[in-house]
Amino acid sequence: MINFFKVDKIPEEYDFLDIMVVDIFGRLKHVTLPKSYVSEKTFKEGIGFDASNFGFAKVTDSDMVAIPDLSKIFVEENEGMKIVHVLSDVISPSTGKFFAQYPRSIAKETLKYIKESGIADDAKMLVELEFHIFDGITFKTGETESYYFLENDEGLGYEDNQPKTYGSSYHLNEPYDIHFTLRNEIVKSLENAGIPVKYHHHEVGIAQHEIELNFMSLVDAADNVTLAKYIIRKIAERYGLYVTFMPKPMFNMAGNGMHVHQYLEKDGKSLFVGDELYNLSELALNYTAGILNHSLTGSLLSWSNPSTNSYKRLVPGFEAPISASFSKGSRSAAVRIPGYLSKADTRIEFRTGDGSANVYFFLSAMVLAGISGIEKKLDPVELGFHSKGENEKVFPLDLRLVMKGLKDDKDYLKTFPEELINKWYDTKMKEANLIYSIPVSKEFEMYFEL
Ligand code: GLN
Ligand code: MG
Ligand code: MG
Ligand code: MG
Repeated sequence: MINFFKVDKIPEEYDFLDIMVVDIFGRLKHVTLPKSYVSEKTFKEGIGFDASNFGFAKVTDSDMVAIPDLSKIFVEENEGMKIVHVLSDVISPSTGKFFAQYPRSIAKETLKYIKESGIADDAKMLVELEFHIFDGITFKTGETESYYFLENDEGLGYEDNQPKTYGSSYHLNEPYDIHFTLRNEIVKSLENAGIPVKYHHHEVGIAQHEIELNFMSLVDAADNVTLAKYIIRKIAERYGLYVTFMPKPMFNMAGNGMHVHQYLEKDGKSLFVGDELYNLSELALNYTAGILNHSLTGSLLSWSNPSTNSYKRLVPGFEAPISASFSKGSRSAAVRIPGYLSKADTRIEFRTGDGSANVYFFLSAMVLAGISGIEKKLDPVELGFHSKGENEKVFPLDLRLVMKGLKDDKDYLKTFPEELINKWYDTKMKEANLIYSIPVSKEFEMYFEL
């Protein structure tokens, strides 16, 4: 059994200090120091690492320093060992300043930008995590590609192995909800580590699950999503189970989204509650228009849906929204206004994004898109976005198209350094070109004899 504890400062006694750094894809990397090596200097001056391996820097100028953020600590007790985990910021030694391309730097700058704009002093986010649990992964390496073959006891991947459930598995109960106890253990661990959770449940797909975190400020939300993904995987792995957040692990089955409920706040009060459509304020409508507008160019999707697999999820029929639309209650609308809330809790939910995003980039770009809508006073009804999701304003649904969209529409990304945008474009274009150049097995079936 692993036990987690939230702590406010580095404890007196422990075995290891585990310094965690976020890479360009939003993955958590770590380096672990025995307590005997740790000193005041470690916390003041940080620990050096090779940033070229994290996707950020050139190999020829790759030295960076990870500085522990002492407000982001939690303890793990595991097999008699006490490990202090700490999230870090990154400093570039050539400038002595925080590295502007580091995901946490961008999220922090975004929060600062909102405050300085005078529009709001906080952006509150509730992030929903959808994922599949697999019983096994076989890793195969071929001449030109490496791939995972996924197996699952609930019958995934095999035509002759019927799923154990009939129809939708949404909120599926025991005894068929075979991972109920595991989800309880995961959620208990998240809460103990200081990550507040709203609830958890089985999702629509077979072996698909969901954990919704609670509302938090933008940076905390991104940090906690990142840590939650790590903890979810870590607990599952102890039972020989593998978790994936990939948007569409299986053809013709429900995909994994990463929905975000959100509102801006000023002086402790929501700016999204008002007397316009669906109890929204004019500001909330402008914000909604900003998000949909920058999604329609592809630019926001290049951060919220940045994998080739993202566009296998964004197909009709699976509650994954594919057009610039907003409405109350509709799960086909990219922005849904939840229908079950009292007026004081009115907020919006952006449903297009997925877990292949770097959540720091995704949340930051989304809020900046909303802010640009407020600054331009965009009216989402006038723009033709008011629809349950059946309008004609379909997003560009291809990784290469959204990356081109990013190149043409980046002025609203006030806190994203140009160099990062270019790096993101090159990295993601390379990914897209690789995937689209690999013949897939279905092509053999369709074209072999032509
Ligand atoms: N899994 C769906 C998606 O891809 C959402 C389904 C739901 O939350 N009801 O976004
Ligand atoms: Mg949900
Ligand atoms: Mg869901
Ligand atoms: Mg949702």
